[in-house]
Amino acid sequence: MDIVSDVALDLVEAQGTDDSPSLRKLDQMMLECAALDREINCFVESVEQTTARVRQEPPHAMFSLLNSVKDRFAELMDTDADIQRHSKVVAFRDNIRKSVAQVNQMAASNIEEELDEDIAVTQSQTNFTCPLTQLEMVNPVRNKKCQHYYDQEAALSMIKNKHNNKKKFRCPVVGCGNMDVKQSDLELDLVMKRRIQTHRRQSGNS
Ligand SMILES: [Zn+2]
Repeated sequence: MDIVSDVALDLVEAQGTDDSPSLRKLDQMMLECAALDREINCFVESVEQTTARVRQEPPHAMFSLLNSVKDRFAELMDTDADIQRHSKVVAFRDNIRKSVAQVNQMAASNIEEELDEDIAVTQSQTNFTCPLTQLEMVNPVRNKKCQHYYDQEAALSMIKNKHNNKKKFRCPVVGCGNMDVKQSDLELDLVMKRRIQTHRRQSGNS
């Protein structure tokens, strides 16, 4: 799914639009992946639920294990789930929209670009730096609650570390009131990741 997103963002940057046959095809691929993802999750859940239940039952219940899993799987798959609202599909479409807006914005500000170059450099340096490592982010994750960015690896290991010590992980951004950052709050931002990659290429060349 991440690869499909990446290819789609390449297309948007090359074409400057979110409406093309290739993009519609990629959108369709995302939906198919999401359907598969849902099937796998339903299967894992039915196995987990069945094994959890069987532990509390007499040994002869083990004989019907396979059928129990099959039944539960069928039940789970039977519930209504809107693939269109699958989190990866939503994020995919969101990223496309953001990328189109960015491409258009860049085209519009092309003329002023030279004048603003100094400001842009200062801004991007602060924006692309992880507040945990003080280094340029590699895999930027966005906190859905406070909108701050961290590098994925650093943030996840901090959260794990704090939770192992029964502590909460506070958002490290100065002045942020978010006192409890959870792993589920963090979302990989592919558009941001690409901006950092572009920035790195450009600053490497100059
Ligand atoms: Zn924050």
